[in-house]
Amino acid sequence: MNPLTPVEERTRADIPGSGRNGSLQARLRELVEGFLVEDRVEIRLGDPVGGGGPACCLPGCPRPASTKQLCKAHLERWNWVGRPDLAQWDPGDPPEPEWLSLARLPVPLRFEVAYGLLRARQTRAVDPIGIAAARRLLDTLATTEMSSLFDRGEHEWPTTRSGERIVKLRIGFITFTIDEIDRLQGICTGEYEYARDVWRLRRLGFTGTPEGWQLDFRRIDQPWLREAVKKFLRWRHDTGHSASGMHRDVLTLTRLGHALTECAGPAAAPEQFDRAVITRLLALFVADGFTANGRRQRMSSVKRFFAIARQHDWLPGVPARTAVYSEDFPAQTQLAPRALSAFVTAQLKNPGTLDKLTDPRWRLLFPLLMETGLRLNDALHLPTDCVVHDQRQAPYLRFHNRKMKIVLVGQ
Ligand SMILES: [Zn+2]
Repeated sequence: MNPLTPVEERTRADIPGSGRNGSLQARLRELVEGFLVEDRVEIRLGDPVGGGGPACCLPGCPRPASTKQLCKAHLERWNWVGRPDLAQWDPGDPPEPEWLSLARLPVPLRFEVAYGLLRARQTRAVDPIGIAAARRLLDTLATTEMSSLFDRGEHEWPTTRSGERIVKLRIGFITFTIDEIDRLQGICTGEYEYARDVWRLRRLGFTGTPEGWQLDFRRIDQPWLREAVKKFLRWRHDTGHSASGMHRDVLTLTRLGHALTECAGPAAAPEQFDRAVITRLLALFVADGFTANGRRQRMSSVKRFFAIARQHDWLPGVPARTAVYSEDFPAQTQLAPRALSAFVTAQLKNPGTLDKLTDPRWRLLFPLLMETGLRLNDALHLPTDCVVHDQRQAPYLRFHNRKMKIVLVGQ
């Protein structure tokens, strides 16, 4: 187990329930006063957690709709009286608002979740979920046997198995709550994140899929090398490198650390970082099963690391000879041409050939790919209502790749 970095030590000392600092717990309790009443939170329409989705269609009803545009209470009453025409039906007094019970959650987890619910209402910065999903989430939390969201580091989730299902920490209400509580303590900054050995990309401003990713530096044994790699990744981020590129850098440079460990041990000093380590790294990449092009890509990542680290003097003590030279790169292998040969194109354009495909989806897909130039993945994810028309009724294909784009369909 890797020791905690000073910042993690400090945070651990600050977290609620650690016994060393109960002041945050008291502060959270104070902040949710009046919001958490008798361990319950009343749900308002539009609350991102529990009040997501449309409202019950009956006038004056404070609950979100469950089925047939009615809330659960009204649905039951309506079923009870034999499902009359809604326009004619007098539903009586509106039901009480929905509520979420936090009573099953131990303290301080209860106050943490209540604070998250309060902040979600105030900021609306959480993807909305309905009451049933919110209750499932709380049930899941209650089964984790955690007394605080900070009992374990985020990289240690998933924490429990509930039945056969593994509970995962996904981007959503829980990560939002963790961020909000850290913000309250002033430790939700990029600077704080950079000091950690596991970076949460959501905290570094990434959105979309990479928002949920983490960069883990803990498998680099030598502390001085780990620090240099972290500085390099920070530089990568500052210069606009992609999340996937950064992720690959971390994996590659972690292997560099492994090569150093194999040559000179986990406590290797910078002076022991010689050319033998680079040779060892090449062997590791072969053992990892990377193709020549995969190895080239990774070697250029290592080369870049050395160049930037030397520029900034992040690797004092490492012999000047230690670098990646052009001879270290495996020979480039020629990739197959991306365009199809005329012979294959003619086969694909022949309706007789296409008729041999037994699956009608493939028969549709080939002409679609050829006529629109869509990527395969975008074509496979086309919705059923993907054709739109302009004022002159010319058909266009609407598809989603990363941004919304409009593409003219061939006649
Ligand atoms: Zn209702």
